[in-house]
Amino acid sequence: MNEYRKVTTNTVEKLRKILKNDALLIYDDTESLKSYSNDESGGEYYAHMPEVVVKPETKEQISQIIKLANDEMIPITPRGAGSGLAGADIPIFGGIVISLERMNKIIEIDSENLVAVVEPGVVTNDLCRIVSEKGLYYAGYPMSVETSFIGGNVATNAGGSKVIKYGNTAHHILGLEVVMPDGEIVEFGGKRRKDSSGYNLLQLFIGSEGTLGIFTKIYVNLIPQPGKVVDLLVPFESVEKAISNVAPLMVETKSLPSGIEFIDKKSIYYASKYTGMKLPYQDEVESYLIVQYEATSLQEIEELYEKGGKALQKNGAKDVFIADNRSNSEKIWRMRRNWLESLKAVDPYVPTGDVVVPTSKIPEMMKYINEVSNEFKIDIPVAGHAADGNLHPAPLKPKNLPPNEWKTLSEEILGKIAMKAAQMGGAISGEHGVGFIKKELLKKTKPKQYKWMQEVKETFDPNNIMNPGKLF
Ligand SMILES: Cc1cc2nc3c(=O)[nH]c(=O)nc-3n(C[C@H](O)[C@H](O)[C@H](O)COP(=O)(O)OP(=O)(O)OC[C@H]3O[C@@H](n4cnc5c(N)ncnc54)[C@H](O)[C@@H]3O)c2cc1C
Repeated sequence: MNEYRKVTTNTVEKLRKILKNDALLIYDDTESLKSYSNDESGGEYYAHMPEVVVKPETKEQISQIIKLANDEMIPITPRGAGSGLAGADIPIFGGIVISLERMNKIIEIDSENLVAVVEPGVVTNDLCRIVSEKGLYYAGYPMSVETSFIGGNVATNAGGSKVIKYGNTAHHILGLEVVMPDGEIVEFGGKRRKDSSGYNLLQLFIGSEGTLGIFTKIYVNLIPQPGKVVDLLVPFESVEKAISNVAPLMVETKSLPSGIEFIDKKSIYYASKYTGMKLPYQDEVESYLIVQYEATSLQEIEELYEKGGKALQKNGAKDVFIADNRSNSEKIWRMRRNWLESLKAVDPYVPTGDVVVPTSKIPEMMKYINEVSNEFKIDIPVAGHAADGNLHPAPLKPKNLPPNEWKTLSEEILGKIAMKAAQMGGAISGEHGVGFIKKELLKKTKPKQYKWMQEVKETFDPNNIMNPGKLF
């Protein structure tokens, strides 16, 4: 365990000199510091106060701050939008939080090379919107698209609802400029699409959760806008029927939807209360799939959704509702996107599991989650990216249980589900990352890799300055 030093007034003075603008630093202001003490992973019991928050505007400032932190043995926690669900941006040792919120420029949209070059604090949806004005498409689409930053997406290797067709964030990143844990600024990859010269270190940084360096520039892959989008809302009388439709839908129609989302009855109940919306058959069915198709022509999209709709009905869907305009699509997605918010409205302590299994194993995984729910007598609504085998069980705290007891119990429940996923050939996290909440599970499920990961960390960050306590 490293011995970290406290931030002193002398350290703060040095930070002020680096930033040259008092508005870029928060110190000695408990209320403002508190906004940087937690993410969205669950209760207040996970929060930890930073000693100082800095909001640099340039890579050079970040480099100098990191050099200072090394000299003074002060831990650094990089922070994006704070929408994480694993505690990865919580400053558990205090120290300096480096917020990337001021580095929010779209530097270049290079239509010729189909690449956008952006700073890490760009909100993901802003990137999607701005490139779409040029007929281009960024295919990363976490459900937090309206709040999370692209830098946070890269650092967690975020997934979302379009992974089955386009891949997770790792598939969209061509290059990174990184301020390393010793303050050196290094580029990995760039606008080029291929590079087989040596180990692929670029990919090592994707999903590194701020433990190997801070991204200051991101080269993002773009594709032409598909143009046509259709969503199908598909109610099912049982969870098993819904889930067992996922793989056959793709195989039988020989086509990939851009997403297949799953949402169960309990989740719909809370989402409906929260949004004030009601879905067809809501009181009669046990679950829904939302299937999205994207294509470049009207004819192509019609063929896709007709084939898909027929396959779903043949395999037991109660009905298939087609949303082929933006307003109807938005109604469907509002329920799904607001899933977590609607649970937080009834239980601010709700944690979100993030297990992933091979797609064919989702029915077994769902059955197991149900068994755990019965064993612990805890309500566990589930939603997820069904096409990727990625489910989010979200246990709800019984009203009278004290938060600290709930912390232990909910970690036990989600730990059990995560271990089962790993035994089934899956993993303890599909897209939210490990942070500090799941690090024991990482160690248990990947013991050999864990050791190598530690060695990588020691090579890049011998002082263990960058986001300590995360992953390890
Ligand atoms: C309602 C809701 C829905 C969500 N849906 C999804 C979903 O569909 N798919 C999904 O994958 N996730 C989802 N998430 C989780 C979360 O939005 C993602 O993990 C997101 O990628 C985090 O981005 P952020 O900018 O908020 O980063 P933060 O939470 O602030 O940080 C996350 C990690 O990134 C590191 N980091 C941030 N910026 C940098 C940088 N520039 N350089 C190095 N490290 C950095 C931090 O240190 C931390 O380790 C959801 C969250 C919520 C609240």
